[in-house]
Amino acid sequence: MVNRPLFPRTAALGNTMRLLGTFMNDSPWARRRFEPDIADFTFGNPHEMALPGYVDALQRAVVPRDKDWFAYKDSEPESRAIVAASLRAWVGIPFEAEDIAMTTGGFGALAAALKAVTEPGDEVIYSLPPWFLYEIMIVDNGLVPVKVRLNPVSFDLDFDAIAAAITPRTRVLIVNTPHNPTGKIYPPETLTRLAALLDDASRRNGRTIYLLSDEPYNRIVFGGVRFHSPAAFYPNTLLAYSYGKVLLTPGQRIGYLALPPTMPDRDQVMQSIRLAQIANGYLFPNALLQHALADLETLSIDIPHLERKRDRMVVALREMGYNVHVPEGTFYLLPRSPWEDDGAFTELLAEYGVFVLPGSVAEIPGYFRISLTANDAMIERALPGFAVAIGRAKKSAPATRTAASIR
Ligand code: PLP
Repeated sequence: MVNRPLFPRTAALGNTMRLLGTFMNDSPWARRRFEPDIADFTFGNPHEMALPGYVDALQRAVVPRDKDWFAYKDSEPESRAIVAASLRAWVGIPFEAEDIAMTTGGFGALAAALKAVTEPGDEVIYSLPPWFLYEIMIVDNGLVPVKVRLNPVSFDLDFDAIAAAITPRTRVLIVNTPHNPTGKIYPPETLTRLAALLDDASRRNGRTIYLLSDEPYNRIVFGGVRFHSPAAFYPNTLLAYSYGKVLLTPGQRIGYLALPPTMPDRDQVMQSIRLAQIANGYLFPNALLQHALADLETLSIDIPHLERKRDRMVVALREMGYNVHVPEGTFYLLPRSPWEDDGAFTELLAEYGVFVLPGSVAEIPGYFRISLTANDAMIERALPGFAVAIGRAKKSAPATRTAASIR
């Protein structure tokens, strides 16, 4: 008898994140993640206590100053003004408060943006490897995911692939910079060329193609490299941001969408975003986080420390024989897996208490992802395990794995 799911609609959504779900629920990491002596490099979660200023900011903000302190909040005028000022300084675009929609993290921003500017059946293009949860949001909105590869050597956008993927139904192109998991920051030349390509295609189609710029890591940039937002190059850009990365508090949901003042249909897009936020379950950040925002804006994880962790690991891994490039931003490293089967190599590392994310889960088989949010002690503890594992991998092929053991 065919095993039909009781809830086919959500079952179909589950299929879009099957490998991630299996990794999270049924893998050596899922079974051992709370053991005290492991080194956990899987996800961008904190492995140290929160920034002291963070807790102070929330404590101050929790004390009500008027009867409306905990009333329904949407995109509060004060929050929008704080974000606009921050963006003027960080990305150099003259945003005003009315250009900002406050959202439940970057996730809420992406979900609201996708719903706001599309009709069912529209196509959404994005590059592989992607953030692994684009697809579930695209499918949930009745849209069609269209995947193209990044340039495999430079990790830059592949213009020929994007141009070939555009059809009259293309409505959105998602670009993630700085890019998870490659750490690539797209340079101005790339963004200029992309803007020209999208302008041409929109004109040809007689319908705007929106660029959804997913940039939650735009403040996590390492020495010497400058971040450029696609919003400065293409007016039909929706800039999606999350505070969860720079504050390393992903369980606290606050972020925003920003529309450049040059966007032609800005007021209608903003109105559509607001309706999408309401219809999808009130995707506005909680009152407390909005009250604390002026203080939160001034805080950041220690980026030079993160850069030192990147350098420590890149040097050590290369000495061991790993093939790993130097990311320009984000908090990820993406070494090549010594075995083509990245799941098998991930399990080998797990034998030494070292947990990383198999590349297959993020649609980049043959690699694995390391999150540098692991603390210094974990890094030092893990290095001998990385060394033994690559030594073993070079000597022998992976044992054949059963389906149940995969990720
Ligand atoms: N986009 C990218 C590329 C990400 O890596 C993440 C989180 O990992 C998000 C969006 C979502 O961010 P948040 O969970 O803070 O909303």
